Amino acid sequence: MQIGFIGLGNMGGPMAANLAKAGHQVTGFDMADVSIDGVTMAESAIAAAQGADVVITMLPNGQILRAVAADIIPAMSEGAAFVDCSTVDVDSAKAVAQQAETAGLLAVDAPVSGGIGGASAGTLTFMAGGSEAAFGKAAPLFDIMGQKAVHCGDSGAGQSAKICNNMILGVTMIATCEAFALADKLGLDRQKMFDVVSTSSGYSWTMNAYCPAPGVGPQSPADNDYQPGFAADLMLKDLRLSQQAAESADADTPMGQAATELYATFVEQEDGLGMDFSAMLPRFEKRGRD
Ligand code: NAD
Repeated sequence: MQIGFIGLGNMGGPMAANLAKAGHQVTGFDMADVSIDGVTMAESAIAAAQGADVVITMLPNGQILRAVAADIIPAMSEGAAFVDCSTVDVDSAKAVAQQAETAGLLAVDAPVSGGIGGASAGTLTFMAGGSEAAFGKAAPLFDIMGQKAVHCGDSGAGQSAKICNNMILGVTMIATCEAFALADKLGLDRQKMFDVVSTSSGYSWTMNAYCPAPGVGPQSPADNDYQPGFAADLMLKDLRLSQQAAESADADTPMGQAATELYATFVEQEDGLGMDFSAMLPRFEKRGRD
């Protein structure tokens, strides 16, 4: 296929490289001066999109996505697919899809889980929203860039699934970290705490697979001075999107709201910027009840 790829950063770069490695013709564009193995660089987003069967975007936020979409949709060939893999607000995902469909294009919102490691290894999980036809057109590319793709429903359903998942993740990480900090103060050994919780009803991905306590459980960012991993500021971005969606849908999400406020304090007023999101544990460790 002829593929246009716009946004070749930490995630988009390796994703585009994997598509090129699999034999697709990939033309890329990024505002920054980047070069990616196997990818022909274009002068503009419009030039990257022209004549492509599929255009993939991997951009920082919904505002930038809307601006890029407004530029490239008129330049894309009828019947081509617009596949946005960025994590953006549900309203932007739906608006861009509608604009694309009005122009005779197929549209998919397909945010990913798996981080930079998953992007390089081609083991991302895609959660997709859009028509059957649109999902079908993008699916062979998801197979190259990832290990699993779930068609979640209509436009916006991919972003909805992503932010609901990450709201659970943020809340659960905080719960796991505050429980470890409490266990410390109660004099409980961390390894014993892990042995019990990881095989009891408090188990979770954050405890069992990504344990925030150094030296306990499988290897995780805690064992590397909390270098990300999944950065606390990216968790904050996703939590804010979850609260924006909750506002828009009139959903009551008190735990999601509390997690958003805690990560905002951690990232913007404390030392959380640049740290993994599991660094909530040393934060709680240092604190008392006030
Ligand atoms: P990044 O900042 O490394 O990459 C974004 C790229 O977009 C940059 O290279 C930037 O120059 C480019 N860009 C910005 N505006 C542009 C424009 N108008 N035209 C063309 N290019 C433009 O970010 P990333 O880590 O690659 O993340 C991309 C998206 O993936 C985000 O929405 C993020 O939330 C999501 N995501 C990231 C991770 C992760 O672990 N990094 C995991 C899952 C999802």
